[in-house]
Amino acid sequence: MLKKLRSILFPDNIAEVRWDLFRFQRIKSFFYNRKNFAYIRTFGDIVFIFIILYGLFGPQSKEENPVIFLTWGIWWPSVVLSWFFLGRMWCAFCPFPGVARLFQRLKLSLEKEPPLWLKKYGIHLATTFFFVIIWLETATPLAQVPRYTALLILSVVGFAGLFGILYKGYAWCRYLCPLGRITGVSATMALIEFRPNHSVCKGCKGAYCKKSTPNISPCPVYLGAISVQNNLNCFICGHCLLLCPNDSPRVYLRHPLKEIISNKGKGITCSYIVPFLIGSQISRFLVESSSWKAFLSQIYLDEKIAFTLLFLFLSFAILMLSRLTILILGVFEDPIFGRFNLAIASIIPLAFTGELIFRLKYFLQELDEFLNTITNLLELKFLQALNLQISNVYILIISYFLLFIAFIATLYIIYYFYSKEFEHEIPFKNFTGIIFFDFCLFFIYFIIIPLSLH
Ligand code: SF4
Ligand code: SF4
Repeated sequence: MLKKLRSILFPDNIAEVRWDLFRFQRIKSFFYNRKNFAYIRTFGDIVFIFIILYGLFGPQSKEENPVIFLTWGIWWPSVVLSWFFLGRMWCAFCPFPGVARLFQRLKLSLEKEPPLWLKKYGIHLATTFFFVIIWLETATPLAQVPRYTALLILSVVGFAGLFGILYKGYAWCRYLCPLGRITGVSATMALIEFRPNHSVCKGCKGAYCKKSTPNISPCPVYLGAISVQNNLNCFICGHCLLLCPNDSPRVYLRHPLKEIISNKGKGITCSYIVPFLIGSQISRFLVESSSWKAFLSQIYLDEKIAFTLLFLFLSFAILMLSRLTILILGVFEDPIFGRFNLAIASIIPLAFTGELIFRLKYFLQELDEFLNTITNLLELKFLQALNLQISNVYILIISYFLLFIAFIATLYIIYYFYSKEFEHEIPFKNFTGIIFFDFCLFFIYFIIIPLSLH
């Protein structure tokens, strides 16, 4: 049993470790029965309509309006948690493109091809939007005032709708959505993947999964199973299953580090999203500490300006540090696949787990207050008796538990590169250098998390 567990967690060839989840009939029928997706989407639409309306027209204090906690305490942490298990599947249920879907169903869309600029620069714009939202969340009352939160959601729904009117499919979701972009990037370390069976596809003449039929529309993000090579853009929505006549696509359970290892630090995920995310997290943890508040009272600087400076400084500092690491530890080049940035690849688990810890902390700290709000709103007195005030000690234990798992994953990635993927071609000093870099980051999180719990 232990041997089997070891061979699953630490396999000889990580690419081969995966299980076809469609062997379980229930899972397969869940994906084939499109009504399941429609029901979940409708539920999400109703919740979003409530958040928008109650946020805009309900009471504007956090204590009286559950919209703030529903958005920043339940929805956000749930999306971040889903990164690790479901990849980009959140996007399959997301209410943001609801208006676009409606217009397209009513044949009110111009159905244009997404333009070249969107395909070329969309990924950078979406990443920028994401970091702007992260900044707004701390530097402005966005996450404190229900109306601002509702307006943010409404504006994203509006943009997704506008792009749905102009272009075919979900152009907003594929190219510009900030949440979709970060979800796609983090889906590289998800436990599941949607892939075709290439040996079946070899004999397929039509690539039908990329097309449409009079009754079935094409893949909303312009892929189709045969084009799915990674978790970056596929929603795992299963829509193209209905288009394939050969029963080729499957949902697989896989080793969560498989895609990080096969990517080897290529692409914009590693060139700037991961370092920037880590920098922004450190600044967000830091501003919640009492030492930061004490420091601010000494320098007489406005809280928002100070946070903005810290946010920019730390984000760019980690970015520069990652560049320095490349210079010192070297970039590994392959004549076919290009440049690999192994040090940055190894810290991906820390970056995404850091985000989970940050979001979970908010959920656990605010849960009790949310129950009080619900109690007052719906007069559910029994909820008050639950007293779910969670002590900081428990939050710290949970945070450290997640951090240690992420650190083990980080070490495993670099060990796998060193001993298996590159078969000891990486100089030993570089190997130990990357471990030292990983340890420094781990140590920063280790120190900063308890500081933010006051
Ligand atoms: S997934 Fe199906 S439709 Fe698409 S190429 Fe493979 S066999 Fe053909
Ligand atoms: S490739 Fe298939 S599963 Fe992936 S987003 Fe497109 S339709 Fe959905």
